Amino acid sequence: MNSRDSEHMIAELTEKENYEVIDDFTKADLILINTCSVREKPVHKLFSELGGFNKKKKPSAKIGVCGCTASHLGEEILKRAPYVSFVLGARNVSKITQVLYKDKAVEVDINYDESAFAFKDFRSSPYKGFINISIGCDKSCTFCIVPKTRGDEVSIPLDLILKEASRLVDSGAKEIFLLGQNVNNYGRRFSAEHEKVNFTELLRRLSKIEKLQRIRFTSPHPFHMDDEFIEEFASNPKICKSMHMPLQSGSTKVLKDMKRGYTKEWFLNRVEKLKSIAPEATISTDIIVAFPGESDEDFEDTLDVLRKVKFDQIFSFKYSPRPETEAEHFTNIVDEDVASQRLTQLQSLNNEIIDEKHSSYLGNVYNVYFEELNRDNYIAGRSDNNIVIRVKGSEELLGQFRDVKITEIGRTILTGEIVA
Ligand code: SAH
Repeated sequence: MNSRDSEHMIAELTEKENYEVIDDFTKADLILINTCSVREKPVHKLFSELGGFNKKKKPSAKIGVCGCTASHLGEEILKRAPYVSFVLGARNVSKITQVLYKDKAVEVDINYDESAFAFKDFRSSPYKGFINISIGCDKSCTFCIVPKTRGDEVSIPLDLILKEASRLVDSGAKEIFLLGQNVNNYGRRFSAEHEKVNFTELLRRLSKIEKLQRIRFTSPHPFHMDDEFIEEFASNPKICKSMHMPLQSGSTKVLKDMKRGYTKEWFLNRVEKLKSIAPEATISTDIIVAFPGESDEDFEDTLDVLRKVKFDQIFSFKYSPRPETEAEHFTNIVDEDVASQRLTQLQSLNNEIIDEKHSSYLGNVYNVYFEELNRDNYIAGRSDNNIVIRVKGSEELLGQFRDVKITEIGRTILTGEIVA
């Protein structure tokens, strides 16, 4: 989502203000830092990075702090780093060309509605494009700061999404990536009167775009994974067979304390349904260890879900208390050493699972969409089910689909050779 916000700001600046993107910040007239605030670490990093930029930048260069940390710290950023020119919160990025001209502007209104703003176009990849389908988040997960930095959930009108997807495809992209905090809650609220469709219907409409070949999305919420959605996912050939299912915890008790809205059994039931009708699908997840009150047994439940589901990728984090969240006030904090040890244990179990899975891929053939040149004359892309695969090759392969047979196994990337 931040990447897309950055693209939007670049688009506005290059199209309306004649800026261009350069690599060397010491020569830049404007330095934008787009921040996350989901965990505490990036916030600390912001201030150390800011100091570095300020020391080496051109004297006349402006620095703007954007994104979620801008939303939640606001004015305080100017106090702690007075050389910052403006602060522009998430969901206010359409104002980028205005704040340029307002020294010390702080635009962080989380109720600001840019769901129907006609952003100019900038794409960091010609092969695929991100499309926002909603802004904000209506959930009240007790650990999460996002609703406080990105505001309430508002869906982007269907006709805007369809037009954006068609524009992308007309410019040569074959894959779209739909973005939202809870994509499968799409269509619950619009900022004005618009055609109401749900996420499953949105997927159907998008897949009618003829030249569009691949549709990906993140993040769906396990709570909203109804049968209709899973069945469309399985049967629609344009929907890539990789599903992100953010578990957070395998313990029903912890899930309740997190206010996730589902149980361990519901999650496993949804995975079972998915696997039964789309066995080729890969599943990724997010997991938080050491949420306040997480006992050894609770953590064991998380490991149990890992063993049962055998995720293809996990993003795992130690719980980080965040301001303005309910869990910030929870007192049954898990000891730091225990948290570290749980994270290590979780990750090593996951590595075992991945190694075992990947070794069974040897000799398999996948249809790969090539999109990235790597070092040593390798070119990489993804299979429909989101496995990163590289082959020896050159740029003629970029933007092309090829069948690739796997010849070498790695934990994050597989190597193969083109067979068709
Ligand atoms: N709306 C998305 C979450 C986006 S944040 C969803 O529900 O899937 C991405 C991930 O960061 C979350 O899934 C969660 O695993 C992690 N995260 C969020 N808040 C956190 C916190 N306070 N501490 C540690 N990890 C956190």
